[in-house]
Amino acid sequence: MILTMGVDLGSITAKCVILQDGHQVLAERVVKGGMIGGGAEKAVAEALTAAGVAQEEIANAVATGYGRVIYAAANEEMSEIGCHGKGAFFQEPAARIVIDIGGQDFKVIKLGAGGRVVNFVMNEKCAAGTGRFLEVMAQALGHPVSELAQIGSRATEKVAISSTCTVFAESEVISHLAADKKVADIVAGIHESIARRIAGLAQRLTLEDKILVTGGVAQNQGVVAALAERLGREMFVPRFPQSNGALGAALYAFEKSSLVR
Ligand code: ADP
Repeated sequence: MILTMGVDLGSITAKCVILQDGHQVLAERVVKGGMIGGGAEKAVAEALTAAGVAQEEIANAVATGYGRVIYAAANEEMSEIGCHGKGAFFQEPAARIVIDIGGQDFKVIKLGAGGRVVNFVMNEKCAAGTGRFLEVMAQALGHPVSELAQIGSRATEKVAISSTCTVFAESEVISHLAADKKVADIVAGIHESIARRIAGLAQRLTLEDKILVTGGVAQNQGVVAALAERLGREMFVPRFPQSNGALGAALYAFEKSSLVR
């Protein structure tokens, strides 16, 4: 039995996946606290406990994500894009496009046979269309991000959020609240704004075959549905959307450990 670990240290959360023999997920943990705040150590400790294994039993550990270089306990690091490709291929072998919407960026990755990364596009250094954008809007509305999808599902219309800039969009949301617009309609407008931003980038690639949506924001059905409508394509959310990169890192760790043996 070979146990491997993948750690994805993002801007907002840390993710850890423990894999047995390169195919069975023994544990998956997502904790708040990305690059700063000891998120990685906490996610690793929780995953080890959940899997019932000791750190010493892990044959190989690979770190990925924004903060991968600062996670010293990993044996190796690997690029986020490559890990997302691997994770996506494992979760859905038919997937050819991965739209990953994280805390501070979003990426659209085109995969070839075997999960090989063929091409990818990423947003510029801007919070528009990211989880951070959602968090700022959620805070302005006084609701946790995890409730937005449900609130938005009660919308009867979409209130237009015209500014892509997070700071201006936040002011717009506050103005809409002051103008007594329905919160559900504002939320639907926020989801639409994110979908518009992501779709704009995604359309630079040829969108064929199966599209997977990953990252923390994939848990928001409102965003996923708005994206499906904008792109005119069906979207699939895999079993581990937020840990897709960590899963890819654990798979890579397994491939490497198999080579060593
Ligand atoms: P990163 O890898 O950059 O740390 P993640 O992929 O973990 O980012 O995504 C974090 C984002 O996911 C948060 O900013 C938030 O908008 C969104 N998110 C996290 N949990 C939920 C949830 N339960 N429902 C909806 N959105 C969520």
